[in-house]
Amino acid sequence: MSEVKVSILDGYLDEPSCLGVPPYIAPHIRYTYGALKDAGLKNKDINYLTIDQFRDNEERLISQLHNSEFVIIIAGTTVPGRYLGGQPISLQEIEEIAKRLDQAQVILSGPIINCSLEVKFIDQLAKEVPGLTIYQELTNTNLHNKLESSELIDRWAVLGAEVTNEHPNFPHLVCELETFRGCPRESHCSFCSEGFKEVIYQRSVEGVIKEVKNLAKLGNQYFRLGCQTDLLLYQAKQVGDKLVPNPTAIEKLYSGIREVAPNLKVLHMDNVNPATIADFTDEAAQILETIAKYNTAGDVAAFGLESADPKVLKANNIGTNKKKTMQAIKMMNEASGYREDGVPKLLPGINLLHGLQGESKKTMELNFNFLKKILDSDLLVRRINIRQVNPLKDYEAVHGYSKHDFKEYKEKVNEEINKPMLKRLFPVETILKEVIIEEVKGKLSFGRQLGTYPILVGVPGQREIGEILDVKVIDHGYRSITGLPWPFNINQAGVAELEALPGIGKKRAMRIFMKKDIKDLEHLNEILDYSYDIEKLKELVVFD
Ligand code: SF4
Repeated sequence: MSEVKVSILDGYLDEPSCLGVPPYIAPHIRYTYGALKDAGLKNKDINYLTIDQFRDNEERLISQLHNSEFVIIIAGTTVPGRYLGGQPISLQEIEEIAKRLDQAQVILSGPIINCSLEVKFIDQLAKEVPGLTIYQELTNTNLHNKLESSELIDRWAVLGAEVTNEHPNFPHLVCELETFRGCPRESHCSFCSEGFKEVIYQRSVEGVIKEVKNLAKLGNQYFRLGCQTDLLLYQAKQVGDKLVPNPTAIEKLYSGIREVAPNLKVLHMDNVNPATIADFTDEAAQILETIAKYNTAGDVAAFGLESADPKVLKANNIGTNKKKTMQAIKMMNEASGYREDGVPKLLPGINLLHGLQGESKKTMELNFNFLKKILDSDLLVRRINIRQVNPLKDYEAVHGYSKHDFKEYKEKVNEEINKPMLKRLFPVETILKEVIIEEVKGKLSFGRQLGTYPILVGVPGQREIGEILDVKVIDHGYRSITGLPWPFNINQAGVAELEALPGIGKKRAMRIFMKKDIKDLEHLNEILDYSYDIEKLKELVVFD
């Protein structure tokens, strides 16, 4: 087998139930790599590269792809968005690359194949378990005849962990972990792509733990149980026509992960259907307690309410409602809203979707009122995600209002909900650890922590991309905060950083910058001619 060479081109996938744009690595990539190893290929025969690496060095890398017998492109974004850590491959790029690879067999894999898209120059679509198509090509055998999908995945997940070491973000890479695939609801929300998935499975607790063990052994420390539609229904039990959450399985999963990865820095999660919490309060309370016991702080469970308009919920067969979602928000606040290291342990996020059937101008009002009620009830939600529905197959987006109305609504949410909520979540002086700089724009650098829905942090001054620093919060935007590096040594700070200190302004910043040997707060007060309320800086600056 060693003469066969295979390339995996990571075009990044991003689904509501799975992230794969850096700093995340999607499980599909690891499964595919594991399938290649299982088929007998050595690491030297497998070439893994990301679409951003390809773009940066196209001429050299196209020849690497040329020299492969098979090129597997893994792609698929079903959520439109702007990404900081990388730009997913476009359909046009897939076709252009595939067209140039006239000697290699090009296999397209990932959620992209669930969309009814015509993609030219592709030899095969991998519709099955990730990795199965290439495994069969290489071995002429069908392991699937002997093993269930979940067994295949458990096996390949362990073998494929090694690819993380090839990722350009390693070791600052979040390993997205899958617990199950598909939506457990019998009838699906009409706008959602989960119902199109032909292969669905539940993974075993042991399988996920073994995978984490191997990932941790290879130096990975950041994990997100992000790849499933509702973590509370992992290993749920069928009772009559209902799926009842299984607290024992989730306790085993979390405690097992902690045992095999004792040095992990992040253990976060993603989606939960709020109706599961509201419908099974006892089981949900136990599970929330378990998650908060084993996770790391700053965790978020995204709740897909999608709309607070009952007409929209009905028209789209959405399985939750305002009342259940509010109840779930309250329960989660009570169970896990406490702070650890200064940040809330586990909070809900709210997803709202627009362009849904049944929408009208009233929908925006109902959504806003729902959010206002959360704020007025002194509850915390970590983020409110308002996005547009992605047209899928025959689902047609509708807009019962003008673009102008929608813009106004979003501005109102930003001003009246997001900003006060951020102040409540991350009060001034909160310390956020390990913020990684990802972008520099003018005199501001932007970074995020590794984890689930990390807050965007603007750091005054031009920092190095990839630099890691702790920051102290000094100000709040709508969806981001401003933070100064912590500890902030006033004698070593640049003018842009000094200017960002509350109420300092340009002239005072210059005066401080020129001085450089300030001893203490009193000395600083003297340098500023007692023209400034020096108490404001008491907790923000150090002098050596
Ligand atoms: S509950 Fe609805 S939106 Fe969520 S995964 Fe299932 S079908 Fe999709």
